Amino acid sequence: MRKLIVAGNWKMNTSVAEGVELAKKVSEYAEKKNLPAEKQIVIAPPFTHLAPIAQVINADKVILAAQDCAATTNGAYTGEVSASMLKGLGVKAVILGHSERRQYFKENSEILLKKIKLALAEGLDIIFCCGETKDQREAGANLYNNVIKAQLVDTVFTLSAEEFKKVIIAYEPVWAIGTGLTATPEQAQEIHEFIRKEIANNYNAQVAEDTTILYGGSCKPSNAAEIFAKKDVDGGLIGGASLKADDFGKLIDAR
Ligand code: PEP
Repeated sequence: MRKLIVAGNWKMNTSVAEGVELAKKVSEYAEKKNLPAEKQIVIAPPFTHLAPIAQVINADKVILAAQDCAATTNGAYTGEVSASMLKGLGVKAVILGHSERRQYFKENSEILLKKIKLALAEGLDIIFCCGETKDQREAGANLYNNVIKAQLVDTVFTLSAEEFKKVIIAYEPVWAIGTGLTATPEQAQEIHEFIRKEIANNYNAQVAEDTTILYGGSCKPSNAAEIFAKKDVDGGLIGGASLKADDFGKLIDAR
């Protein structure tokens, strides 16, 4: 079923002690709000923070996610962290396809699909990011729609409808991530509607209706409510503003 989600992507920020404190505050906030099951709060701290944070959050109220996982199962892959290791820590979801991973770590659809399959094999949910660059946006709707479609067709759309139930899409225009530029509510709605139609074409109308599609890109308390109010926007993937407990709380309220 479609969920209403506010997810925090902490990226490579906070010390372990700061992260534990932040997670505790988010968890206390979630407990106080006592949200219904379809309204979910997700946090994605760095790998190093996951184990101690799993000890302090109320896992019924806050979903623990990782920001990445390896494209292989356990073995001689120095520095990597596998989906099964994450599962063992109490992680329930993993962000894949973030534009920073695509840009700085050259992750392409082939690599992402391997990660998706391994994460699914461990029963993890996938928060799959897609979105166009500034140049692609400026080239017009034909081009940016095709870019987004290709990012989905080559990866999550190869999954069975059953597997796809574990996928949450995050539309994150690259030009809006960490830049202070935000898509207008209309721009966000246009792409979310487009993505939902493509899901219906690839699967069926019910699958499309049930899929959670988040917006991400410089969301903050001052702009989130308008974006979240659009009919195909089911919440947000939040970077910078998820590092401040008060702002993150306001974003949860906005949703
Ligand atoms: C992100 O990195 O997923 C993101 C949306 O970042 P920010 O909110 O900082 O733009």
